[in-house]
Amino acid sequence: MAQLDTRQKLAILADAAKYDASCASSGTSKRDSRGGKGVGSSEGMGICHAYAPDGRCISLLKILLTNSCIFDCAYCINRKSSNVRRARFTAQEVVQLTLAFYKRNYIEGLFLSSGIIRSSNYTMEQLVEVARSLREDHDFRGYIHLKTIPDADPELVRQAGLHADRVSINVELPTVAGLTDLAPEKSAPQIEGAMSDMKGAIEEGKDNKKRFKSAPSFAPAGQSTQMIVGADAATDRDIVRRASGLYDRFGLRRVYYSAFSPIPDASAVLPLKRPPLMREHRLYQSDWLMRFYGFKPAEVEQAADPAGMLPLDIDPKLAWALKFRDSFPVDVNRAPKELLLRIPGLGTKAVDRIVQSRRWRKLSLDDVARVTVSVAKVRPFIVTTDWRPTLLTDRADLRTLVAPRTEQLELFAA
Ligand code: SF4
Repeated sequence: MAQLDTRQKLAILADAAKYDASCASSGTSKRDSRGGKGVGSSEGMGICHAYAPDGRCISLLKILLTNSCIFDCAYCINRKSSNVRRARFTAQEVVQLTLAFYKRNYIEGLFLSSGIIRSSNYTMEQLVEVARSLREDHDFRGYIHLKTIPDADPELVRQAGLHADRVSINVELPTVAGLTDLAPEKSAPQIEGAMSDMKGAIEEGKDNKKRFKSAPSFAPAGQSTQMIVGADAATDRDIVRRASGLYDRFGLRRVYYSAFSPIPDASAVLPLKRPPLMREHRLYQSDWLMRFYGFKPAEVEQAADPAGMLPLDIDPKLAWALKFRDSFPVDVNRAPKELLLRIPGLGTKAVDRIVQSRRWRKLSLDDVARVTVSVAKVRPFIVTTDWRPTLLTDRADLRTLVAPRTEQLELFAA
């Protein structure tokens, strides 16, 4: 490997990390350096902007320790057979870089991943050493997200949780067949085994914390995973099913969906075109339906077409409502919250506002219009004091009436 200076390494290793989407930093414990103790804070932009569910934007130094790898995953630009320029940081270089960026107020934390160098254990040791040194040698209190190597020694993976706020173990592809075809050196049972161990360790850490206030935190922001969408033949239905299984079995905080992007010198087994970005967006919407709107995975799957794909032109909640019109209209003045959450066009905040307001007075269509972006989308599905959709809910052309209009943008529009 040619001798590179820190700036050159940073350019290569930050660029190589951009393919990883799973860096939102929601839900960690609060830690700060007010009072002159330590460096950094987990509260609070810069290199990689991650958005937490509460809308907070935080910045992370998002890099790889190295983009050299002994594995040859077909979808990865850093695979052994890829013809990219390679670089490698030492653990101490990453520590110094993180502290320097933090002190200049460029970042609020670190997102660190790595190609596999020498062996999985050796790589995991290096990743853990970065986090350990930041916490123990420098009392760094900022956010740390470590990507772990599933086939590394479980004790090493566990050590990651002692220092990191969040750990993630990527399942990579939605199906075992996809993983076998595109990442033959990886093993689905090993990945799931590591997730299961991590779940156990996180629960144990929480338990200890309840019993002994002084017990150390263990991965307080939990574990997450990422799957690549569009690199294999998995349908949206397969992906929804897989995601819900992962949430149930491993208590994940988040599943991230990353639309496959064609890479230079791509392997011939990969598609030449990336899937539409809207597909990724629809999968995130379906994920939210399961996590925040009370939809069961089978119900989200019902929104898909016979080929198992979610529509791209309308969101999955609207697609479900159009298929199950006998569940509507819903009376916003009387229906329980779980039915209000089924109404297309009403988000969780709008539903909360409706539930609050109706305690004091009966709601009209204008009242509902005030809490939604598009009352036209909501109208066919609700009853208010002054509105009843009568036959509108059952109209054959309802989809055309409520689907968002796609407009040709004018090149010189103001
Ligand atoms: S192990 Fe990770 S870095 Fe290495 S080729 Fe596979 S996905 Fe890329």
